[in-house]
Amino acid sequence: MIIGNWKMNTARADAVALAEAVANIEHQASTRVGICPPALWIDPIAHILEGSSILLGAQDCIGDQFGAQTGCINADMAHDAGCAMAILGHSERRARFGETSASLLPAVAAVLETGMFPVFCVGETQEERESGRALDVVAKQIRPLLTAGLDLGGIVIAYEPVWAIGTGLSATRADIEEMHATVRDVLGRTDALVLYGGSVSPESADEVFSAEGVSGALVGGASLNADKFAAIVAAWERK
Ligand code: PEP
Repeated sequence: MIIGNWKMNTARADAVALAEAVANIEHQASTRVGICPPALWIDPIAHILEGSSILLGAQDCIGDQFGAQTGCINADMAHDAGCAMAILGHSERRARFGETSASLLPAVAAVLETGMFPVFCVGETQEERESGRALDVVAKQIRPLLTAGLDLGGIVIAYEPVWAIGTGLSATRADIEEMHATVRDVLGRTDALVLYGGSVSPESADEVFSAEGVSGALVGGASLNADKFAAIVAAWERK
């Protein structure tokens, strides 16, 4: 699975052009490819992707029912607009809006309830990695998911070391393998899809995908260029 997270990028015309280019990316049926544009562009892009195999996703949503929540979108809205997935708990949202795995549980439940799948992000900071706490930190980010009585069969986890996001740095293959095994272990699911994220690019993709236990990638910066995104899909398929 290769998912592009466009974050707060693209003016409307750029988003349309990028989605049109991504819609033409060829990939094997067994590779799920998706994009998560800014919420305002979900609707026009849903029309562009109609009939294509590219999945559409929201970058975030909340678990509340319809109601008085200024500025928010809920899981039903994302689903209604044509989304197949929603990214939840990205480190940028954890840092800026104080989201925690516990506070995200209603959103995880609501996303699963709609039939979409959550792409639930976890990852340690540089200081946590350097002090030897990376595995513990990520395990703590995963554990709340187990306390909510959710059927986690459809959940996708994205392991994204915070220090690797947008920096050009990447975790070592050994660290990725260790972390992905830990995520599956804590989840109690050997079959869970665990993506890697953090500066994945056409240049780094082969190395990342050679790590055992990597189910694909959550791609930020490189997903804003259709050729680079396609090259990452191709790297996955030749692995
Ligand atoms: C991300 O933030 O999800 C991400 C992986 O970003 P980048 O690829 O730009 O590091």
